[in-house]
Amino acid sequence: MQSSLISHHEDFIELCDHIRKAGVVAFDTEFVSESTYRPELGLLQFATDERSVAVDPLAIGDLSLWWDIMSDDQTTVVVHGGQAEIRFCLQLIGKPPQKLYDIQLAEGFRGRSYPLSYAAVVQRVLNQHVDSSQTRTDWLRRPLSNDQLKYALEDVDHVLNIWRRQTDWLVKHGRMEWVSSEIQRMIDDIVADDSMAPWHRLSGTHKLSRRELAVLQKLATWREEEAAFRNRPVRRILRDDLVIDLAKRKPQTVQQALATRDLNRPEYKRRLDDVVNVITDAMAIPDKELPGKVRSRRQESSSDEQVISKLLSLSLSNRCAELDISQTLVANNKDLAELVRHHRFGEQDEGAPRILEGWRQEVCGQLLLDVMDGKVGFRVAPASASTPLEFRYEDNQSAD
Ligand SMILES: [Zn+2]
Repeated sequence: MQSSLISHHEDFIELCDHIRKAGVVAFDTEFVSESTYRPELGLLQFATDERSVAVDPLAIGDLSLWWDIMSDDQTTVVVHGGQAEIRFCLQLIGKPPQKLYDIQLAEGFRGRSYPLSYAAVVQRVLNQHVDSSQTRTDWLRRPLSNDQLKYALEDVDHVLNIWRRQTDWLVKHGRMEWVSSEIQRMIDDIVADDSMAPWHRLSGTHKLSRRELAVLQKLATWREEEAAFRNRPVRRILRDDLVIDLAKRKPQTVQQALATRDLNRPEYKRRLDDVVNVITDAMAIPDKELPGKVRSRRQESSSDEQVISKLLSLSLSNRCAELDISQTLVANNKDLAELVRHHRFGEQDEGAPRILEGWRQEVCGQLLLDVMDGKVGFRVAPASASTPLEFRYEDNQSAD
């Protein structure tokens, strides 16, 4: 019998060969992200119809054979909540996956709860129980126990069965394209996020002046480089709120910087010379070379806008109940507010609202426009009905 843990390079090559031939593979990783700049892989798990096996990345080292498969357009890679796996692929070989399928995302198109844990998806789709007692394990320790390995392999063992059930159902219900485009969007979002300048992820930047923004950009860039160089998480170099605080206060001596009490902590204090140098550099930038102010997405909404958004939210909840699809996946309150501003108050500067595009338009776009235009109303449905509300179109049109 083959061992379920691969730690020799030739076995790894053989596995990759096997995966290519199989054409579809379930994939999961275990990793540790607490103390390094980027998460560290502790284990990779694979399952095909014939085999279920884990790969020890600490023993194998170069895994590019696998990442090449993950990012090619031949092999379907099936994951559960695969954001981390997409990031690994992207960061390790610079290419995103091309044929990815996510059973967690897909399940949100077949029921109203999203996101469901792996155990919950297994329970719902296959009516089987999986054990999740090893979730707090340290995946970088060696040797891994048999229990750890068994648990890790459970994460891929049921995935292909679920994938088959789901895809049969999705095709039959005409939702396969919805799922595919949403998976692509998840990948595109991660790719976009990965290529953004480090300061983009900080919140509240639209409140900063151009000079403050210059300080913030330089500090964030310095922090990123420092974190990469020391292989520490970015937040351990300098917390987000402290970056913002420093950008506002712009201290140019260590003494001034120490006015913020948290900066007295030893892990920050020893970097304050660097911090002050970065700030001094940013202060020397000529006015005309300062970055432009960050445009704020309008946060505050008028009372009218809020009332209409609530009405749309009810309509959307009911539509999601009709279709048995997760509302979380379709739209959040920000999306609804965006639609209200666009349609009702004629604000066009943000482009077409997301909710009027692709599968979302199909699910609810027209309905919500009709609600705003007074073409459709609703009332509480009789207790025997399958949805809480009943849409009523003018001119006796039916809701479907
Ligand atoms: Zn796992």
